[in-house]
Formats: sequence, C-alpha cells, structure tokens
Amino acid sequence: MMVVGIAVSLCLIASAFMYTQWQERIVMAQNEQSMRKLTGSVIEGLRSVMLAGSADMARAYADQLKTLPEVTDFRILRVTGEEAFHDNTTIHEVNRRRGEETFAPRDTEARIDVLAKDSELLRNALAASEPTFFYRDEDVGKMLTFLAPIQNQGGCYKCHGKAQAVRGVLMLSTSLAGAELELVRIRHNALLVLGLALMASVLLTGYTMGRSVVGPIEIMVSEMARVADGDLEHQIPVATQDEFGRMAASFNRMTAEVNAICSGLRQEQDKLKTIIFGAGEGIVATDSEGAIVLVNPAAERLLGKTAMEIVRGGFSNLTGDPVTLLQWLEEEDKSISNTCEMGGRWLQVYIETIYTVDGHVVGSACLLRDITEAKRLEDELRRLSTSDALTGIFNRRYLDATLLKEFERVKRTDGPLSVILFDVDHFKKFNDTYGHDQGDRVLQAVAATFRDALRKYDSACRYGGEEFVGILPDTRATDAYQVAERLRKAVSATTVNGLQVNISLGVATFPDLAVHSAAELLEAADTALYRSKANGRNCTTLATHHAEPSPS
Ligand code: GH3
Ligand code: MG
Ligand code: MG
Repeated sequence: MMVVGIAVSLCLIASAFMYTQWQERIVMAQNEQSMRKLTGSVIEGLRSVMLAGSADMARAYADQLKTLPEVTDFRILRVTGEEAFHDNTTIHEVNRRRGEETFAPRDTEARIDVLAKDSELLRNALAASEPTFFYRDEDVGKMLTFLAPIQNQGGCYKCHGKAQAVRGVLMLSTSLAGAELELVRIRHNALLVLGLALMASVLLTGYTMGRSVVGPIEIMVSEMARVADGDLEHQIPVATQDEFGRMAASFNRMTAEVNAICSGLRQEQDKLKTIIFGAGEGIVATDSEGAIVLVNPAAERLLGKTAMEIVRGGFSNLTGDPVTLLQWLEEEDKSISNTCEMGGRWLQVYIETIYTVDGHVVGSACLLRDITEAKRLEDELRRLSTSDALTGIFNRRYLDATLLKEFERVKRTDGPLSVILFDVDHFKKFNDTYGHDQGDRVLQAVAATFRDALRKYDSACRYGGEEFVGILPDTRATDAYQVAERLRKAVSATTVNGLQVNISLGVATFPDLAVHSAAELLEAADTALYRSKANGRNCTTLATHHAEPSPS
C-alpha cells in the first residue's frame, strides 16, 4: 500500500510539473504570437508613415509606441546597429539623393549604439525575412525582444535608393512580467491542485488500508490476545482466503499444537506431583534464585518441620549445618554418600544443582532418605562382627586389628603401649566340677569385671577360651601393672552363684621391651603370664625383657 501511495504521489507530482511546463509553453507562445502580430503591424504603420514622406513622424510614432502597456522599449535601428532618427546622417543622404532639401536637418545630434555592428543578433535579424526574437534578463524582469527587418521596397527607393535590401531593424521589447505573473498563478494553482490531490490520495490510501489491513489486523490481534490470555481452546475464525486467512489458519494450528503439548505436560506434571508427594524420600527444591518452591510431606516428616518453617529457614539451613550442606552441594563426586543426624534420625542427603541443557541454573534439589534403621543394623552388624558372642566384649578379630593399629601408631610416636594377658586358673577343673554352663556364666562375669576395670580408651578383648587381652594405649608399665593387680583382685572378689575364680596375668609394655611387632608384644605378655602360672597363679608378672626368638 505504501508503494502504491508513493507511486500515486510521484505520478501526481509529475503530472503537476508537466502541466505547469505545458501551461508555460502556451503562455509564452501566446505572448510571442501577440508580439509578432504587434511587430508586424508596427512595421506596416511605420512604412505607411515613411512612404507618406513624414519621416519625422516615425520618431514620434516610435515614442508613441513606447507608451503602450505591452511595449517596454521600441527603437528603429540602422543596419549598423545604431538607433535611427537621432542624427542627420540619413537626412543628408536622402536630401543629396533627391537633390533638394526635402528634410530639414536636426538641431542636435546624438549617436546611440544599441547593437554592435557585427553582433550575431543583428546579423541574424538582417538576414531573416521574418522577425526574430530573443529573451534576456533585465533588472525589471525577463524581457522578450523582437528584431524585425525593414525591407527596402518600391516606395522606399525614392529616398533611399535600391542598393540595400534591408533598411534597418525594428527592435521592440516587451516585459514578460505579466506573463510571469500568469505563470506564477498557474504554478500556484497547480500546487494547490497537487496538494489537494495528494491529500485525497493519502486519505484514500489511509481509508483503504484501514479497511483492508488495519481492521483485519486489529481483529486478529484481539483474537490472538484471547489465546495469549490462556484460552487455548479458542480458534480464530478464518473468514478470507488471503494472507489474513492463512495467518489465522496457521495460528489456529499452532494453538492446537501448543494446547496438545500443554495438556501432555499437565499430565506429566500430575504424575510427577503424585510421585513427589507420595514418595518416602523427602524432596526440597528451589528456583534459580535459591528460594524454596517445593517441599513434599516426607521432607516435613524427616526434618520435623512444617513446609512453611522449611521455606522460612531457607535451603542452606535444611540440616541445620549450612556450611556442610553447601560443601555437599559443591562436591563434584555425587556418588559419595552424605549423612547427618537430625532429631534422633539418620538422614542420607543427596543435594545437587539443576541445570538446563544450555547450562543455566534452574535451581537446586535436596533428597532426604531416612537411613536410621539401616544405620542401626549396620552398627549392630559392626558390633557383632567385632564382639564376642558369649561375653559381649571385643573378639579376637578386633583384638588383632586394634593391637596392630595401636602398635603401628606408638612405633611412630614412641609413646607407651601396654597389654595385659590373663588366663583363668584351673578352669578345666571348674568346668568339670560345676559344669560348662556354670563355667560360661563365670566367664561372662570375669569379662564384665574386666571391661569395668579398663578406661574408655582401652579395649577389653577375649583372646580365646578362658584367656583375655587388654590393650591399654598411652599406659606405662607401672600403671598397667596396677590395673592388672586391681583387675586380679576384682575377679577374685566376684562370685557367681557363690562360686569364684582367680586369674593369672602377664603385663608387657612398649617401648620398655625391645619388641618389633604387636605379635612380639603379645608374646612377651604371654611369657610373663606363664611366669605367673609358674609362680603359683593368682598373681601378675611384668615382662622385663623379651626373649628373641631362637634361630631354628
Ligand atoms: P591353668 O590354671 O593352667 O590355666 O589350668 P586350666 O585348667 O585353666 O588349663 P587349660 O587351659 O588346660 O584349661 C582351659 C579350660 O577352659 C579348658 C576348657 O574346658 C575351658 N574352657 C575354654 N573355653 C571355655 C568356654 O567357653 N566355656 C567354658 N565353660 N569353659 C571353657
Ligand atoms: Mg588357658
Ligand atoms: Mg586356665
């Protein structure tokens, strides 16, 4: 439409231009025509005057012509280009030819050169049979000047002879101010018509665009806004087969597609909601700004807070330890299981930042799993694997591992490490006398007394049968000996069903003894125990040296 509007406007402007040019040509042609007629009649009038023998009248005639409104200037020129009737040259010449003084000479003479003798204008005018004309710009405006040759004809011979074919040139100038005024008026009118035509064209174009473009677009926009406001079921009526009709049909197809995708997404969202809200694992999620936007019931239960409290507390405060939680969030290896204890429950925490496919942060999610029972079972399993079934104190496996670990440690620190090895005296006989069950109960009582006699850093272990080992880190020999004696006395003082047993003990300490391994330390304690047995039992022996194994 805009192109059509511009084309119409250009056509109108071109028409206006051509019209004014055409009018200009007509006006100028009319002007020339009337001037040509005037010039012709002036020549005829002048000839009549001259032939009547009234040459003096010619000058009066010329001056009279100048008073005409159409004539700005009028001169009669000789073939030399100077103005005639201002000197006596022609009078003398005519008088000489006629032999009498026909014409009285002038009192005052003047020479007025109007055109140069050899000027092209003059030569062209003298050579032409018809008047020639030219335009020139003067201070008063544009001028049109006619140069009409004055032919030397029969009536003229009497005074001027036959020698010259042309007597001179009539020069008649007229101002074109009137014509130019007329042209200005024509241009003004053309501009006015052009302006009106352009305005009409603009109005018509606007009206046409309004009818054919703006109106349908407004309808389309309001229909699209309805869809954009959420009414995805709405279809835009396809009223025409043009671009708007095709646009409406395309929009309807797009809306149907979006509608299908949305309902699919809604179904998936419903499924996901059911899974999230029914899940046993706690789920907390944030948006890209870190604000909590999702808390499922399991999360409320596991964290012991309402959803509102969790939201208010913020994502980093979920477990009450923001520093650790943020460390977990930034960990790259998510296969490492992170756990924490909250309100007597053990929670496994999986936390991760969620990104879009193009790497933008969508938010963060935290999964919480209650592993309290699994943890209890694990602890129980660990306890069972390291404890003795009959007595409940540490078993041989724990003893070996712990003694090895402690010995390696004190080898580095050079700190003291003592072991107490003891054995129930004449226990075979006890069993034989009171039965094996009674023997078991006694062993349980001995183990309990043993455990109570040690500090919490010490380990009370059953070595096997009725033999026990105590591991006492950072304990010097004299202190270990005192512990052993206190234990011996405590066991002797303990009765089970009125029965009691005694024990014999051996104490060995590193680095007091030049031992090189945990096994050698235990061996030294065993040697000391053997001495206690040999010394009559129910006593403690401190190992004073370690017998190097004899080379075999
Ligand atoms: P000694 O003073 O020289 O150590 O004499 P002892 O009888 O204790 O010597 P020995 O090592 O020969 O006997 C150990 C006995 O301990 C043999 C076994 O019946 C008994 N015994 C070992 N383990 C258990 C157990 O778990 N329960 C019971 N009731 N008795 C055990
Ligand atoms: Mg024994
Ligand atoms: Mg024994």
